Amino acid sequence: MTRSAFDEARDRRVVDDAIGRHFPCRVCGKLTLGDTLSQYGARCLECFEDYGRFGQRLRYVAPLTPAEKMAALERLRAIIAGSALNPRAWAHRLKAREESGEMLTPAQRSAWLDTLTAHRTLDAAQDGQPVQTRDITQALTVTGDIRRPDYEGAAL
Ligand SMILES: [Zn+2]
Repeated sequence: MTRSAFDEARDRRVVDDAIGRHFPCRVCGKLTLGDTLSQYGARCLECFEDYGRFGQRLRYVAPLTPAEKMAALERLRAIIAGSALNPRAWAHRLKAREESGEMLTPAQRSAWLDTLTAHRTLDAAQDGQPVQTRDITQALTVTGDIRRPDYEGAAL
C-alpha cells in the first residue's frame, strides 16, 4: 500500500483495527493477535513455547540420587535455620531485591528500611554507643518489642 497523502482519520482506523484484534497474552501481557491467542491457549507464541519447554523439562527430570537428596535437605535446613536465627532475613532479602532493580511497593520498601534502621540503632545501643532513649524507644516500636499506644482505646 503506497501512501499518497496524510490522512489522520485513515491512520487512526488502521491503528484501531490492528489494536481491536489484539488482546493481552495471559502470561506476559503482550498484545497478541486474537487468532494466535485462540490457537495457543490465550498465550503469545513465545509464552506458548516456554510453556512447552517447561512441560518437557518436568517430564524428563531424573530422580534425585541419595547424595543429591541429602544436599537438598542440607540447603533447606540452612535456609530454615538462617531465618530462625536471623529474624530480619526477610528485610535483607527485600533490600537485596530492591537493589537488584525490582520495584517494591512503598510498604515493602519502608518495611525493610525501617526494620534495618531500627536494628542498627539497637545494635549500636547494645555496643555501648551513645544512642538517645527516644531513638531506642522508636526502634523498639518498629521491631514490635514495644507496643504502640492505643490512643483511641480504653487502655490509656
Ligand atoms: Zn506472552
